[in-house]
Amino acid sequence: MNNLIEIRSPISREILKTYCKPAENEINATMKQAGEAFTQWSRTPIKERIRYVNSLRNLIVQKMDEIARDISEATGKTQTEAVLMELIPTLEIMKYYEKKAVSILRSDRRKTTFSFPHSSSFVEYHPLGIVLVLAPWNFPFQLSLVPLISALIAGNVAILKPSELTLTVGELIERLCLEAGFPPHVVKIAYGDSETGEKFVQARPDLIFLTGSASTGVKIMEASAQNLIPVILELGGKDPMIVFEDAPFERAVNGAVYGAFANAGQICVSVERVYVQEQIYDLFVQAVVKKTRDLRMGFSEDSDVGAMTSAQQIKIFNDHVDDALQKGALLLTERKTHGSFVNMVVLKNVNHTMKIMKEETFGPALPVMAFKTEADAVALANDSPYGLNASVWTMDIEKGKRVTSQLQVGNCAINDVIKNIGNPSMPFGGTKRSGFGRYHGPEGLRSFCRTLSVMVNNGGALREPNWFPYSKKLYESLRIYLRIFFSDTNRVAKLKGLWGYIRYFQKAKKESTHAK
Ligand code: NAD
Repeated sequence: MNNLIEIRSPISREILKTYCKPAENEINATMKQAGEAFTQWSRTPIKERIRYVNSLRNLIVQKMDEIARDISEATGKTQTEAVLMELIPTLEIMKYYEKKAVSILRSDRRKTTFSFPHSSSFVEYHPLGIVLVLAPWNFPFQLSLVPLISALIAGNVAILKPSELTLTVGELIERLCLEAGFPPHVVKIAYGDSETGEKFVQARPDLIFLTGSASTGVKIMEASAQNLIPVILELGGKDPMIVFEDAPFERAVNGAVYGAFANAGQICVSVERVYVQEQIYDLFVQAVVKKTRDLRMGFSEDSDVGAMTSAQQIKIFNDHVDDALQKGALLLTERKTHGSFVNMVVLKNVNHTMKIMKEETFGPALPVMAFKTEADAVALANDSPYGLNASVWTMDIEKGKRVTSQLQVGNCAINDVIKNIGNPSMPFGGTKRSGFGRYHGPEGLRSFCRTLSVMVNNGGALREPNWFPYSKKLYESLRIYLRIFFSDTNRVAKLKGLWGYIRYFQKAKKESTHAK
């Protein structure tokens, strides 16, 4: 059996490095060490945990060039794109949680109603234990570090299994965490492939956080169901962009081109399909084609679009474009591939029988379709198995909000693309085949916690009104109680009932004092 994974440069296809997959006993040892580290780390005060994150944040800024270069080498994206789309969103969320985590995870008083006399209630957020982070290759830095940091701040330890295509970025993260001074075994990196991931799932972590494809999501859910391990699934998308005739035209054109081609289209929240209102459809298509032709492909600081990371993804992209052309789509740009650099394509005359409008393409394609009415746009956008992100373009913000509220997605932007995922205070995640669970924002941090609800009785009464013995009298008082507290009618009956209830209570209290 071959235990080696060769990491190849997406540009030159040369072997960058070779890794050895962990054997069964190494996986068990990793789990054991992480479990032991959890005891200490979960007791480390949150402010101290945040100090480690702060050191890491400053280290990332200090080593910005080295990190951007390593990410770029592993993925084929330009260094500018590495900084814009990997470093900045990571730093944003780190800074946000450094500031907010204490209050987000602070115990929370909750209302205690009349049915629970002499009691108070609160909620606490505790760590779960070992969090397994399964990361993809398209943003190997951001999509590893953000869940990892969230897990650590919440008091968990984390095992990161980077994508088999970008293990060098996993190694970079390991080096940075070591240099930031995290205690031993609080962060572990598992260098391996999907089979290694499967073995870690079988080793029973306490939470699995997957960013990956929908088909992997199904497998992870099936495997984790055996041990009832909770999962957060951040999966693929087929994000629609809806452009109304009253959209800010030039901005929408620029947004479409950026949204479809940034990171060579390999973004879960890429613009994967565009619907343009018929009145501006032809003008919009012409403008998009012109802007696309102006883009510069390459690997330098002056390049707009870098290479694609995996040969497999280029195959999927070509298959979707071929399928669209066979079914009558019109190609409006030149179609060329040189190594891992794939020309951006704009297509019109597309429809929902084509893979390019239904399946995740994850490549530099911009298919544009016309729509007539607001209702048509909503129906087209929702006609998808996915539900991750969407954008709506209009100067009528009320209309924009009305439309976003009807879209079956987890996240939406009005007059913007992609960037909304990076707002650290907003929970992010999908619906339908895009997965479930949230990270980012307060909800996201609490996703990495076990919520503990505690109710405290002051212990004064000998028994509660609902405890044994039951009696006819109790039943009568329940009748009154229901009328008082749960019925909206008959005020006189309510007042009478209240008096009866108070007397019942007084009696119960007398009984308990007597017994003491
Ligand atoms: P993938 O599903 O192939 O792999 C993701 C990770 O899971 C990798 O580390 C892989 O080794 C591991 N894995 C695969 N099969 C496994 C199994 N059976 N058990 C355990 N681990 C397993 O995804 P990918 O090709 O690396 O990434 C691209 C996909 O990720 C696209 O569909 C993209 O849309 C999606 N994605 C989603 C988001 C989001 O936030 N929703 C963000 C980025 C990428």
